[in-house]
Amino acid sequence: MGRIRVLSDIVANKIAAGEVVERPASVVKELLENSLDAGATEFRLDIEAGGRRLIRLADNGMGMMRDDALLAFERHATSKLSDVKDLLSIATLGFRGEALPSIASVSRLLLETRAPEEAVGTTVELAGGKILRCDDAALRGGTVIAVRDLFYNVPARKKFLRTEQTEIAHVASLVTHYSLAHPDKSFLLRHNNSELLDVTPVATLRERIYQVFGSQILEDLLDLGDQSRVFPLPAEDEQAGPRRFRLRGFVSGPQVQRLNRNSIYLFVNGRLIRDRLLLHALSSAYHNLMPPACFPFALLFLDCDLEEIDVNVHPSKTEVRFRHGSLAHDFVRDTIRDALIAQRPVSRIPSPAQPAAVLPYSEFSQHAENMGFPAVDEMPGAVENPSALPEFTLRRPPSPHPRFEFADAPLPLEGAARLAVPDTHGPLFPGGALPEPESLEALKDLRPLGQIHDSFIIAAGRDGLWIIDQHVAHERILFEQVLAARGRNAVETQGLLMPLVIQLTAAQQLEYARIAGELNALGFDTEPFGNRTVAVKSAPAGIGSSDVEKVIFEILEISERELRKASLDDLRRGMAASIACRAAIKINMRLEPAKMDWLLRALAATSSPMSCPHGRPIALRYSTRDILKSFHRI
Ligand code: ADP
Ligand code: MG
Repeated sequence: MGRIRVLSDIVANKIAAGEVVERPASVVKELLENSLDAGATEFRLDIEAGGRRLIRLADNGMGMMRDDALLAFERHATSKLSDVKDLLSIATLGFRGEALPSIASVSRLLLETRAPEEAVGTTVELAGGKILRCDDAALRGGTVIAVRDLFYNVPARKKFLRTEQTEIAHVASLVTHYSLAHPDKSFLLRHNNSELLDVTPVATLRERIYQVFGSQILEDLLDLGDQSRVFPLPAEDEQAGPRRFRLRGFVSGPQVQRLNRNSIYLFVNGRLIRDRLLLHALSSAYHNLMPPACFPFALLFLDCDLEEIDVNVHPSKTEVRFRHGSLAHDFVRDTIRDALIAQRPVSRIPSPAQPAAVLPYSEFSQHAENMGFPAVDEMPGAVENPSALPEFTLRRPPSPHPRFEFADAPLPLEGAARLAVPDTHGPLFPGGALPEPESLEALKDLRPLGQIHDSFIIAAGRDGLWIIDQHVAHERILFEQVLAARGRNAVETQGLLMPLVIQLTAAQQLEYARIAGELNALGFDTEPFGNRTVAVKSAPAGIGSSDVEKVIFEILEISERELRKASLDDLRRGMAASIACRAAIKINMRLEPAKMDWLLRALAATSSPMSCPHGRPIALRYSTRDILKSFHRI
């Protein structure tokens, strides 16, 4: 007898489940997509214990007839695709017929459904992929699917689930995404009976953004309107005919600088995706407007001909392949770039677009592949293989003579402190070098001579000429002070004249609940104030009241990022860095000699005076030896 056997459906489904069902959020994604495909307009989701105990979605869609209700759990059973030709133009979110059998194979599942054309409804109950019963039942129209005890029969996978908090955060982020893509539909998300998201239908995307994120973010957003472009295809292209691309959505101005990509929402033909090409296009649009490690808020809907994209790239359907990637890329980049430039006078932009300075996508992906990227994005269903979906960064390879890119015009934007730092970590001029550790001693007797650009202190030292970035220097000083004060439980706070009321997203609300104690210890006296709203009564000393909200959002973001590592220490350091950055003196600020002197002394007294908490250099040195060499004296 040969050795090769065909696997039973039960085994095959379990294997497929490994790709489709990574965590509770991936179940939610598949269920939501099915409901959307079924034309539903109301989605009610109840989650218990982060989704381990229960995930239940009730919709008002077209329901299933009795036979279909049973067939739905067969492998590759789908109502959405019948011919291989259909694969070239998929208009539904689902098409593989894999999700329900996969989910059912790793949980206890109860389906209740009724199609309007049938008098009675049907319930189907399964456990570990086996059908236990199938009955008639009096049901209202639509479908309810309850998934209990996820991974109960796959202990190895169950172990990989993160804390309840992490899992529900993923679910909340996912539902938030879909609610943004469908402003005309209602979404309700409850976790352990408390409401995380409840949005009713509205007419515009702007109103939905308001429902989800509150009014603050809207002020910072630019409406891209409804832009489209038609590209003729070269005659030799086998798929003749023009290609249409359409882009709608909102992006933030360059002053909004997020530390991770969690605020980037990309949809292609209504499908939520993580796409490197589009992320690159987005970053290119902000090139020179924002430092490289920062990300904007972006909510983008790209629509194109169905034939233009291949969605059959990965079982979780979170990736697409464009048949003409560079058209899509350039269209997105240029549309956003134009909107950003139109928003403010051209002269105030530090330097004009320099497309050559950005790596072309092909090189970028090569570059990306060569770097050891940290774990992939947190999107449910995304592959956890780091090289498969690299973290998106857009650092230029270090160049020996980096250019200093200040425009002569006054520096453009608030938050310029971060914005205007040249995006190079190397020396500013040949010969200038990051100081050697032994020269740190010399910091102690630096004499400030003046400032360049009201931003950099020039100082004479024993061993040469120094240039110190005043903002990052102060940031380092404050960072150590804040951490030390936190250690002693003696953080200095200032009461706000009026409590500041801020609105949180569902994900931020969860983060907030987790770190409220730590926020308090760092000087933010906060209190929950109604649903997804927090009142802030005091803040750490030194932070202007207009910055308080930004710092809190930044801290929630850091916390979200650190969640996976779950290190309190990192979180604390991140929080202190954020406070220090906001409270530090800015660049473009004239300093009295006494103040410069104080700053240099205080810097010399820090434990690590050479780099700021975010890792940027603080000081550069042009050594006496280099000066002598340059004048041909040695
Ligand atoms: P796919 O979505 O790829 O077709 P699924 O396994 O997710 O595969 O679902 C199988 C089939 O079950 C779908 O094609 C659809 O006909 C039916 N179905 C699933 N969920 C719903 C729902 N909420 N309402 C109506 N029909 C549904
Ligand atoms: Mg499906």
